[in-house]
Amino acid sequence: MAENHPEKKKKVLVVGAGLAGLCGAMRLAANGYRVTLLEKNPQAGGRLNQIKKDGFTFDTGPSFFSMSYEFEAFARECNINLPFEFVPLDPLYSVNFKGSDKTYHLYKDPEKLAAQLADEEPGFAQKMERYLEECGKAFDDTVDIVIKRNFQSLFHYAQSLMEVNPRHLPKLYRSFWKQVCRYFDSDEARRIVSLVAFFLGRTPFDTSAIYTLLSYTEFRYDGYYNVKGGMYRIVEGLVDELSRAGVEIVYNTEIKSFESSGKQLQALVDSQGRRWEADHFLVNADAAVFRGMVMQRKKYSQRKLSKKSWTMGYLTIYLGLKTKLPQVNHHNYYLGTNFEAYAGNIMRQPDALEKPYYYVNVLSKHNPDCAPAGCESLFFVCPVPNLKYKADWSDRDTIVQSILEDFSERIGQDIAPEIITQTVYTPEDWRDQFNLHYGGGLGLSHSMLQIGALRPRNVDEEFCNLFYAGASTVPGAGLPMSVISSKLAFERIVEADSTRDKG
Ligand SMILES: Cc1cc2nc3c(=O)[nH]c(=O)nc-3n(C[C@H](O)[C@H](O)[C@H](O)COP(=O)(O)OP(=O)(O)OC[C@H]3O[C@@H](n4cnc5c(N)ncnc54)[C@H](O)[C@@H]3O)c2cc1C
Repeated sequence: MAENHPEKKKKVLVVGAGLAGLCGAMRLAANGYRVTLLEKNPQAGGRLNQIKKDGFTFDTGPSFFSMSYEFEAFARECNINLPFEFVPLDPLYSVNFKGSDKTYHLYKDPEKLAAQLADEEPGFAQKMERYLEECGKAFDDTVDIVIKRNFQSLFHYAQSLMEVNPRHLPKLYRSFWKQVCRYFDSDEARRIVSLVAFFLGRTPFDTSAIYTLLSYTEFRYDGYYNVKGGMYRIVEGLVDELSRAGVEIVYNTEIKSFESSGKQLQALVDSQGRRWEADHFLVNADAAVFRGMVMQRKKYSQRKLSKKSWTMGYLTIYLGLKTKLPQVNHHNYYLGTNFEAYAGNIMRQPDALEKPYYYVNVLSKHNPDCAPAGCESLFFVCPVPNLKYKADWSDRDTIVQSILEDFSERIGQDIAPEIITQTVYTPEDWRDQFNLHYGGGLGLSHSMLQIGALRPRNVDEEFCNLFYAGASTVPGAGLPMSVISSKLAFERIVEADSTRDKG
């Protein structure tokens, strides 16, 4: 539980109850700030959300996470017990290629994976060892210098980059795919190892090789974790802790405009015209979209936002089945045969959706409370072009149908007659629910010109009491990054206070 501070400090208004907003609010409350949290939607979590329908429970977005130690550090820093329990995944996930009966289980032990790839990729274990060694160097040489640091200026960023071992320089210009091809010869090994690039909301072909550090985090350093009871337990636990720390969360409240005086933001104004005053403001809404839509910054006008590079969209399907699927694992990737062509086009070519690639999560596999007895709770994620490249989703049902037919064929069981409940989100739904530009599922992409100090900053350009945390500011997308982002923003607020106190 957070410490009781005899003298409460300044008042902070947090806008957005996504993971970065919840963690930011917790850090502030634990350090004596008086915190109010506003959220546009009727429940907390943002993209880390939950649907409860017809007796089924579905996680709506994230289904596992890496860098679990960031959550533990967060709890320590807030002086609370981590309010949820996580369990390591091993195998991390399973991969099936179209036309093959074989399913690859991605164990962290390279020997176990090598045994499955013995025919396709002789010497896999040694190759993987060499590959992961290089990925590990990229991780060790960048994580503290580039990812977990606030930059004071572009110059400071450039200086920090100079601290990175120059051996990684070529990786900035090489694609993830090309890097993987340097170590592995078979299509199967290359595709399996480069799948993680999709977790950044891009493809291995347009993601820089520096992100092969993710292979190190997934296979070697920490792996992936599930949360007991489902991912939404993270949110429920944090909301409980916030309530204990005296933080009020106000739902159904969307910020639309602001009032200011000189270099100070005085109040944010919601869609009902209510004014919300505070000493500091921490915005967890998308840092680029908020600057454009609410703060009316020219640099983030609709036209400028549209010129930025956004991550791909997601078509997500939540199915309740009145049967069990013992042949399906907890985390599964179903890939086609045209990986290069598909991945190369997925950002731009709606036609490529004819034979979609997708991920299936069976939440009820290890969390029986998430489905009625004898039933299964399924969650499909299909990477699709965002709304820039596919604005019309009137063919949604046809695409969903083709995914479900493909899945039925691959698992050898027609699931259509077993469906009790079905919910579908297109990129339009993701955009409208969470104010995501073009419905890009992970926000701004991680291209070289949109990372580090080149990403929208976590401290505002005009108002000295306005800060940002979340996927489109530093360091980037993914749950552990949200936790780190909340820390970086918190440090900015504390720094602003101490500078002012000294002044
Ligand atoms: C389908 C999908 C699958 C994913 N899978 C994974 C995974 O397996 N592992 C992983 O680590 N990551 C995954 N991610 C990424 C992860 O979900 C995000 O990086 C993370 O949840 C972002 O958190 P956030 O706090 O930055 O933003 P958000 O979750 O978007 O929170 C921002 C909040 O601000 C609110 N808001 C916006 N505008 C306003 C306003 N004007 N006024 C008031 N409130 C406002 C929104 O409603 C929202 O609640 C996935 C994402 C998607 C979409």
